[in-house]
Amino acid sequence: MRIRIPLSAPDVSEADIDAVVSVLRTARLSIGPKMEEFERAVADYAGVRHGVAVSSGTAGLHLSLRALGIGEGDEVILPSFTFIAAAHVLLYERAIPVFADIDAVTLNLDPEKLEELITPRTRGIVVAHTFGYPADLRGILDIALRHGLPVLEDACEAIGAESHGRRAGGIGQVGVFAFYPNKPITTAEGGMVVTDDGELAETIRALRNQGRKDTDGWSDHRLLGYNYRLSELHCALGASQMLRLDEILRRRMDRALRYSRELQSIPEVMAPPLVASDGRVCCFAFVVRLTDEFTQADRDVIHEYLTEHGIGCGRYFAPIHRQPLYARFAERTRGGLPVTEHVSVRTLALPFFNAITDGQIAEVCETLREGIGRARRSGAHSTAADAGCSR
Ligand SMILES: *Cc1c(COP(=O)(O)O)cnc(C)c1O
Repeated sequence: MRIRIPLSAPDVSEADIDAVVSVLRTARLSIGPKMEEFERAVADYAGVRHGVAVSSGTAGLHLSLRALGIGEGDEVILPSFTFIAAAHVLLYERAIPVFADIDAVTLNLDPEKLEELITPRTRGIVVAHTFGYPADLRGILDIALRHGLPVLEDACEAIGAESHGRRAGGIGQVGVFAFYPNKPITTAEGGMVVTDDGELAETIRALRNQGRKDTDGWSDHRLLGYNYRLSELHCALGASQMLRLDEILRRRMDRALRYSRELQSIPEVMAPPLVASDGRVCCFAFVVRLTDEFTQADRDVIHEYLTEHGIGCGRYFAPIHRQPLYARFAERTRGGLPVTEHVSVRTLALPFFNAITDGQIAEVCETLREGIGRARRSGAHSTAADAGCSR
């Protein structure tokens, strides 16, 4: 069946379109004033000095690792319950991912599980603000400082999230945003590295453009760089979207609250947390969790039911340590990620975008209720009951 209510949808205004089109009427299609404007806007917003626009969030994570000097054989601690890009960039550099467990409520890296994973080979910590819920970095920064480790913030889902008066992305040594069309704001494809460290920013700036430093001549290369540049078209879209960021975040929170109210009548489902103690949630996605009595098979039955009824939904995240490519890194982790294992089989992302209507939210919730009914009647559910799983 055709998907009638998509999982996500970009919010592009006429002003955004005009901003992109006006770039096309100039001779500057890359490395120009729009890039500077976009970089300034995002860095200011994150509360740090430097922003470096790059071609994707993944490119931003890659260059951040590179600039931090993380390389072959270096261990980096990161959550397994996150988007796979953070692990992939470690493999690009032949570094070793060491997976840490998450907190059962926030779904962010659990500081309590962090310290025991640190060895003499540990060179860094990657923290994500999962689904836009701000990670409380105070405990993690404390541990990192004690061990002399940099903290890289994967803030790809969390522009505008806040924790203890600081904005996501601007709290660790370096932070990365992403602007794929499902993110809170979009440039179609794109990312941004933000940092207060001028040297780090200069290195990342060089690495995105074949390794050229501004002070070097055009053909004077000391660094192995990439083409991770972001065009003026993308930057113009980003700069225009930044003007509406606060309005967009308010709209997303309004939609998330609407969902939460609708879900109050479905006791089998837990809504995501929308308030952070001394902080602000950036509503990136609306990911619900089934209660403990349900199994992965139940969740998959519900996923299929929603899809059959034209409702886009997603099973994320599938833990990274369970992916075939990462099996060889799971040894230190096996049996050691109980919260990740428990949560990841029961999560379901529901349609979530700025323009979603009250009627669509009601329809999603009603269909979810029916899907839960189907799961209850299916064999998958009774197996869980027989196995003694209780709520
Ligand atoms: C989207 C995302 C990325 C990667 O961003 P791309 O622009 O798609 O490369 C990285 N980490 C997280 C947590 C993300 O959600």
